[in-house]
Amino acid sequence: MTEWIYTVLIIALLGLAAGSFLNVCIYRIPVGESIVAPPSHCPVCQTRLKTPDLIPVLSYFFLKGRCRYCQTPISPRYALVEALTAILFIMVLYKFGVEAALVKYLFATALIITVTFIDLDHFIIPNGLVLTGIIAGLAFLPITGEFSVLNAFLGILSASGFLLFLYIVSRGGMGIGDIKLAAVIGVFLGWPMSLFAVILACFIAGLVGIALLLTGLKKRKDPIPFGPFLAFATFATFMWGQDMVRLYQKIVLSY
Ligand SMILES: [Zn+2]
Repeated sequence: MTEWIYTVLIIALLGLAAGSFLNVCIYRIPVGESIVAPPSHCPVCQTRLKTPDLIPVLSYFFLKGRCRYCQTPISPRYALVEALTAILFIMVLYKFGVEAALVKYLFATALIITVTFIDLDHFIIPNGLVLTGIIAGLAFLPITGEFSVLNAFLGILSASGFLLFLYIVSRGGMGIGDIKLAAVIGVFLGWPMSLFAVILACFIAGLVGIALLLTGLKKRKDPIPFGPFLAFATFATFMWGQDMVRLYQKIVLSY
């Protein structure tokens, strides 16, 4: 029991640290800046931040949401991304336990958090993230032994193929970036769960889209990024996909 508490604590701290790094990725990758240099600095006064300014979540509260040097308000989103990463990391630990698959799904979680916020800000899914995802996904295959390379390939084909089909029939209502992101989902989830995730994303996006139109928050021509839906559906699929399929079969077979 005590050991389990330590494990949760370690993963939570890892999540906070990872979240801090993801903020850097989210901020710098879309504008073409390096994610390793220069060290973190205030975007307004350019002062290089010191260790006490960089403690995930806590420094936001210590600094009362302002830069220590120029008093410019700091977006609460930095702390939110750090807290979210830590919470999702603990959920993934709870699901997979201390196994090889844990590393794979922590990586996937970090990747989809980054994709979600970049797509929300810029309506793009950077090629570098897609490539990193595909290479990492392939590298994890022999480590976790969950499925074969052929299965991953079928996963890519079905997930990207389905979105390519939607792209063609909707005449570009979907981004090319989403089709590329589906390839990452394919290699991480394999066949048939990757296709399940993509269909789930379409379903949720449809519901949210209708809600946004009905509430007047968005107009018919306003673009809504699809990446966050793919990201959420992927997380939901590796966390609860098997349960959802079982529930579905139970309901269908009971008729
Ligand atoms: Zn500043």
